Amino acid sequence: MSTRNEEPIRKSRIRKYKAPEVMEILALVHGPAEWEPRYNAAEELVYTILSQHTSDLNSERAYQTLMDTFGTLNAVAEASPEAIEDAIRHGGLAKQKSVRIKTVLNLVHEEVGSFDLSFLGEMPLDEAKTWLKKFPGIGPKTAAIILCFALGMPAMPVDTHIYRVSQRLRLIGPKVNADKAHDLLEPMVPPKDVFAFHVYLIRHGRQICKAQRPKCGECVLAERCPSQGKFDKPKRKTSTRKLKSRMPKN
Ligand code: SF4
Repeated sequence: MSTRNEEPIRKSRIRKYKAPEVMEILALVHGPAEWEPRYNAAEELVYTILSQHTSDLNSERAYQTLMDTFGTLNAVAEASPEAIEDAIRHGGLAKQKSVRIKTVLNLVHEEVGSFDLSFLGEMPLDEAKTWLKKFPGIGPKTAAIILCFALGMPAMPVDTHIYRVSQRLRLIGPKVNADKAHDLLEPMVPPKDVFAFHVYLIRHGRQICKAQRPKCGECVLAERCPSQGKFDKPKRKTSTRKLKSRMPKN
């Protein structure tokens, strides 16, 4: 016999997915995720600063114009903030980003003597993260992007899509902040799978588990997702007057 409490009890018994299970299911949808370096580490650093608070399209255009204008990172580091600002206007927040790019490039050059950051790839992951995060404007996400995308290290960048999907699947708790999410999500899958896990969660967040209206009805993870259906709009009650108007007239 069903009781009024039946539904909450059933929900609480749902066995949540573990990260490797999420990975396995999404791999069936998205196929293999092959890592290929996009830029070298210092270029990725500049690109990542440009990508803050703007779309991929805008940051790509801004990066392209920056490199077309100056040619090398050395020339960017020597340019005035105003000249950099002019070149990266497409990317938004050009004033702040121009100062940040110039400052970080100069600090890196002072310490390393060049823009070759390939030595980070030889460091233990935590040390490489710490090395990068000491520079102004480089937080856990930027550090993880550089190490993962440019150097193929098993660092997990957590963007807004990954953060949202992970919370909805309860891979991380509702009170975990985005910075902490990096430390929690990264060890949930074997190092060899971190890049693919990152790619799959982003794609899932962009295509299905959208911020405003997740498509739970089309989601391959719906069966054991604790948030499944939570975003459905409640059906509007039909008013008594409308019901009466639909009743057959005698
Ligand atoms: S079932 Fe809905 S909330 Fe859960 S992961 Fe899928 S789309 Fe997101």
